[in-house]
Amino acid sequence: MRPEVVAAMMPVFTEHFGNASSIHWFGQQAKAMMDDARQQVARLINAETAEVVFVSGGTEADNLAIRGIADSQRAKGRHIITSRIEHHAVLHTCKDLEKQGYDVTWLPVSRDGLVDPEDLRKAIRPDTILITIMHANNEIGTIQPLEEIGQIAEDADVYFHSDGVQSTGKIPVDVRKLKVDLYSMSSHKIHGPKGVGALFVRKGTILKPTMTGGGHERNRRSGTENVAGIVGFGEAARLAREGLKTDMPRVATLRDRLEAGLKSKIEFIHVNARNAPRLPNTSNIMVDYAEGEGLVISLDLKGVAVSTGSACSSGSLEPSHVLTAIGKTPDEAHGSLRFSLSTMTTEEDVDYVVETLPGIVERLRELSPYYKKV
Ligand SMILES: *Cc1c(COP(=O)(O)O)cnc(C)c1O
Repeated sequence: MRPEVVAAMMPVFTEHFGNASSIHWFGQQAKAMMDDARQQVARLINAETAEVVFVSGGTEADNLAIRGIADSQRAKGRHIITSRIEHHAVLHTCKDLEKQGYDVTWLPVSRDGLVDPEDLRKAIRPDTILITIMHANNEIGTIQPLEEIGQIAEDADVYFHSDGVQSTGKIPVDVRKLKVDLYSMSSHKIHGPKGVGALFVRKGTILKPTMTGGGHERNRRSGTENVAGIVGFGEAARLAREGLKTDMPRVATLRDRLEAGLKSKIEFIHVNARNAPRLPNTSNIMVDYAEGEGLVISLDLKGVAVSTGSACSSGSLEPSHVLTAIGKTPDEAHGSLRFSLSTMTTEEDVDYVVETLPGIVERLRELSPYYKKV
């Protein structure tokens, strides 16, 4: 978290600990702080404050959007369109709805991870009730042509949700221009606290709540609000908006320095999705003839935290569905590393990685039977 975020949250624990739904003055004080935060989040995406619904994070925002529309529109139809590279919060939610009798179209993506708007246009049917396509991908950073997709959704009069967890605060977002009806955000991806997020719900959107109870958040999400978390999220959103034109270009320069540095020092590496518009902070690099888990562990021992294109679940290495969707073989996916930069990353950090990784790759390649044949 940014220090300013921690500082903004502290008084909520110590002095302003009221319940924002209470009528007494310290409840109202908490409500006022929450209203400020709502305004900051709304400004970051050009929404109205009444259109921001606070939830427990990006996962809940995705669930509320998708299940909320699926439930409220089931009389109209049961067809949902999404892409093959969504975050698990969308992917597993759509899979669950498939089991409940909904019909889901999974749009393919190009080698750079882009959805073809023409594919979307062709997939829309009279019973289509929701299009859910993420704004920017969390593994490879690809930014979708969301304005074009939004226009297609509007022309077809179909609700349009986008998972904006990765794009919020990293690139300019204007929910009016994008023509989204629902847009998911998460605080901890922009240096705010974990366990809080928001769903933008366009005025007039018919959404069945997934959480019922006391009718908080204008009946969209019941449950006493996480005031401290929301206040921290608000401050993080304010700082992110301020840094869009200053911090983010600097982060992009660091990302380019990392990629150029590694390419100049290591043979047989490739930047995944490099030809698509990408987030400034994400770099996914495929290292041929080296194994991802080994790279991650070796880098970890040197103090560098990265992730790889596979998740070790129940002892078997499952290649990332995102890397598979952009045409990588399981081996290529296993040899891919994701580097995430931020406003807090320095030039020294980048140079340290550029100096450290070549030796690690060389050592692992020595062990690879494929590399020796080259
Ligand atoms: C992190 C992430 C989520 C989940 O957000 P949480 O706040 O961790 O639940 C959803 N979608 C994308 C694209 C993400 O990167």
